[in-house]
Amino acid sequence: MNPNVIENVGIISKVAGPLIVAKNMSSVQMYDVVRVGYKKLIGEVIELRGDMASIQVYEETAGLGPGEPVYFTNEPLSVELGPGLIEGIYDGIQRPLDVICDMYGDRIPLGVDVPKLNREREWQFKAVKKVGDEVYGGNVLGEVEETEIVNHKIMVPPTLKGKISWIYNGTAKVDDVICKIETSDGKVVELTMVQHWPVRRHRPYAEKLAPYQPMVTGQRVIDTLFPIAIGGIAAIPGPFGSGKTVVQHQLAKWADADIIVYIGCGERGNEMTDVLREFPELKDPKTGKSLMKRTVLIANTSNMPVAAREASIYTGITIAEYYRDMGYKVAIMADSTSRWAEALREMSGRLEEMPGEEGYPAYLSSRLAEFYERAGLVKCLGAEGRIGAITAIGAVSPPGGDTSEPVSQATLRIVKVFWGLSSQLAYRRHFPAIDWLKSYSLYNDSLEKYFDENVKPDWSKHVKMATMLLQEESKLEEIVRLVGVDSLEYNDRLTLDCARSIREDYLHQIAFHEIDTYTSLNKQYGILKAILMWYEKGLEALKQKCSYQKITAMKVLERIGRMKYIEEDKFNTECNAIYQEIDAEYETLMGGVEA
Ligand code: ADP
Repeated sequence: MNPNVIENVGIISKVAGPLIVAKNMSSVQMYDVVRVGYKKLIGEVIELRGDMASIQVYEETAGLGPGEPVYFTNEPLSVELGPGLIEGIYDGIQRPLDVICDMYGDRIPLGVDVPKLNREREWQFKAVKKVGDEVYGGNVLGEVEETEIVNHKIMVPPTLKGKISWIYNGTAKVDDVICKIETSDGKVVELTMVQHWPVRRHRPYAEKLAPYQPMVTGQRVIDTLFPIAIGGIAAIPGPFGSGKTVVQHQLAKWADADIIVYIGCGERGNEMTDVLREFPELKDPKTGKSLMKRTVLIANTSNMPVAAREASIYTGITIAEYYRDMGYKVAIMADSTSRWAEALREMSGRLEEMPGEEGYPAYLSSRLAEFYERAGLVKCLGAEGRIGAITAIGAVSPPGGDTSEPVSQATLRIVKVFWGLSSQLAYRRHFPAIDWLKSYSLYNDSLEKYFDENVKPDWSKHVKMATMLLQEESKLEEIVRLVGVDSLEYNDRLTLDCARSIREDYLHQIAFHEIDTYTSLNKQYGILKAILMWYEKGLEALKQKCSYQKITAMKVLERIGRMKYIEEDKFNTECNAIYQEIDAEYETLMGGVEA
């Protein structure tokens, strides 16, 4: 966006909150960025009718009046992509909040023009291509160590093709020319380390691939029961206090992702401040450094203009796509898409569009779909055969926790995984409060093979059995409520005991416990197997007329209950010892029966 490129000037004819109507606008295009009024507020054209344009303004419009000029930039709303994004804290239109805060304090001055990427910082550019090499879109020209963890690949912009006529090696600022490419028609294109990309257009890739591998999160209820694939999409509704923030922090910390993009969109002001304060304090368990070393934060509080919220998810996903193009696994979290949808509704209302359900515009679901469709596992552009992925996790915050409202419904039609947080579970202090009866993962079938081949061949058999037992439990509980537990057969009582053990000893996971906070797939398998082994042998023992009381009083049960606290490196040994103890105790029990 360059405010100096003024070819023409529009004139404001109406101001309605964040929406401006201007005339004399025939030379602009849809989604062009314009600078509005004498203060040059940043706006985007969202509707064109003849020479009239509706502009959504990303800054406070109070004080703006008809007759003021609208300056054209003739460029769409774009982000700057290059070294320095990581550790950045941006608003919805990629203004660096931390830099602005240092310069101006807490209030962002109107029309402020701060470069999105740091122009002064020097980077060590290491060329990996040489003069004479033929390159095309996506090819890596060189690398920059962006943080201790992230190796930033400087790529040829997607549409460019040609032969390298000059390439640099050494320290450079983002605006310095680092490579010259001669195209087939003899033109020489000078490349810097920055790429500009319009946020509302997805960045191209070579091929979309079907997700096949789980994004391991170390959270047992997620990995075992409702896994998400690398390149998959999930929704997580978050009634207040249900543990949404903790789940998201856990995912950010532990999920199998190289880069995290977190979009905090318009939660209550203080809540966003919490995110800005807490996130930088999170420690990356993989490196021991701050999690920010591989994170980009996009923050919009509800006291920022509503329109900036609308743009934020596009800004976030475009940054995510850029890192995906480098071949990274990116996890993007949008919290919450409900606030984003409300921004959409407000703008639509001001445009006087025909309202759909609950006042949301009719295009709500297609806009949501457009966002989620940009996630996925892809073969990247460029000859290097890189595979990159964006895994998207969108939080929804339905008013009153009622997921029958339009945003939740539209989201559920798109996403493949639903982690339904339940306030009842949270109230009972069962964390993570992901309701095993309401949640689902449509990746279960496609990931089964991966789990069975890479963890243990009977992984999916165990998972199906655990799911069945939990469902059985809810049915049996109905009966117990009516006629009491004593009326149940011993098998059913054992089923209830086993389901309780799955809930308490397995699904319940304390995020703040040093060991419990993360469980490897191997350990998840081991614990679940022990619980199910005890149950299956118990059923067998009941058949042999063993006493139900004795089965449920077995000493090994306490050890099973503590399995989640065993350190990973000691797990296999201790786990085998527990299996042996289960066998031994049952043998003694059965021996007693026979005698
Ligand atoms: P929300 O963001 O939905 O309002 P939080 O994520 O802040 O809720 O969680 C509320 C509280 O619940 C936390 O402060 C914490 O005490 C508890 N909690 C949530 N998840 C867990 C967990 N996995 N382990 C332990 N405690 C948890």
